Amino acid sequence: MNEQPNTFDPASLASDYLGEAATLLAHDDPFPGGAVVPPIYQTSLFTFANYADMADTFAGRRKQPIYSRGDNPTVMEFEARVAALEGAEAARGFSSGMAAISATVLAFVGAGERMVVVRNCYGDAYRLFERLFPRLHIKVDYVDGSDPDAVAAALPGAKLLYLESPTSMMFELQDIGHLARLAKEQGIVTTIDNSWASPVFQKPITHGVDLVLHSASKYLSGHSDTVAGVVAGSAAHIKHINEQTYSQLGGKLSPFEGWLLLRGLRTLPLRLPHHMKSGLILAERLKAYGKVERVNHPAYSNHPGKKTLAGYAGLFSFEVTEDVDIPAFVDALKFFRIGVSWGGHESLVVPAKASLEQTPGINSMARFGVSPRTIRFNVGLENVEDLWADIVQAFDKSKK
Ligand SMILES: *Cc1c(COP(=O)(O)O)cnc(C)c1O
Repeated sequence: MNEQPNTFDPASLASDYLGEAATLLAHDDPFPGGAVVPPIYQTSLFTFANYADMADTFAGRRKQPIYSRGDNPTVMEFEARVAALEGAEAARGFSSGMAAISATVLAFVGAGERMVVVRNCYGDAYRLFERLFPRLHIKVDYVDGSDPDAVAAALPGAKLLYLESPTSMMFELQDIGHLARLAKEQGIVTTIDNSWASPVFQKPITHGVDLVLHSASKYLSGHSDTVAGVVAGSAAHIKHINEQTYSQLGGKLSPFEGWLLLRGLRTLPLRLPHHMKSGLILAERLKAYGKVERVNHPAYSNHPGKKTLAGYAGLFSFEVTEDVDIPAFVDALKFFRIGVSWGGHESLVVPAKASLEQTPGINSMARFGVSPRTIRFNVGLENVEDLWADIVQAFDKSKK
């Protein structure tokens, strides 16, 4: 009589996406003094008790952080979490995604050497490759990463294969396991920018990719309050980056931002399924909406690259019909604020029409033919019905 009816099945609340990440990110071994959250080691250097400790540490016989441009315990905690999430042996934090990308690529490619990059890669990565690399005599070939034959044809003789699946703005997929295998056969290192999927939805190392890059400014942070980057891979590859570029180029992650990232990471497995669901709801409705010609969302792809995605992020683009006044549409949106970046709690809009005017001559979107009628949405954590109502009223105010 007193028994309460079962109003829900607890098992139905467990999401497949959470997996081991949920425990990994929620559980800490206690920190000094029993603290549940690690302290921010806001210190530039670490002193030694005596000569022998210093000498042993310098010689590698003893482990202790020496200087925060090399190692810092708060940052190391973040690095350990990302390595575990990605299934990697080690990871290295950086001051930005671009610091991680540049230090990683330059650790493996030098003067007179060549790398193969997927077209429609992140805009500033493209600008790095187009502006600085010619001066360093590094050759870059861009390929349609969705076409394995095109990648195979470009690989012989290259030092590095640079993937980003899905790509920025166009969200084209690559069969990352297949491409990493092709590269490995020729001793070519494969890297991937995995910022979009995050390790919750894609673990490239488990598919044979050597090094996984993130703009941690996006989903890993999740709160639009930090700029940071990270690379994860084998201990040997991370050691090579440490020796070749990390410490000397000096783009280290600050302890405070490392701490913010640890805080952001705790909710990563909860945030991603929400972004996915809201993103899919809006993508579906946009696809059926008269003013939208196509939706660039990996959910609508039948490319084999889809098989390594366990879910979809909340960032996608769509192309509107000729009769939509894009500036008026963007200005009419209330909940989608106008701005770059993505992966945070807040919804954002970027019209390709404006991005195409950035850095004329060195613009990957112009080079690879992104339509000026493309609009990118970052779908945040707001109520999805509020977002949809906002989109509809903005379309109503943007008739040409
Ligand atoms: C933002 C971004 C980057 C660059 O990261 P920063 O942290 O801004 O330096 C790299 N790749 C992708 C896909 C991005 O969206």
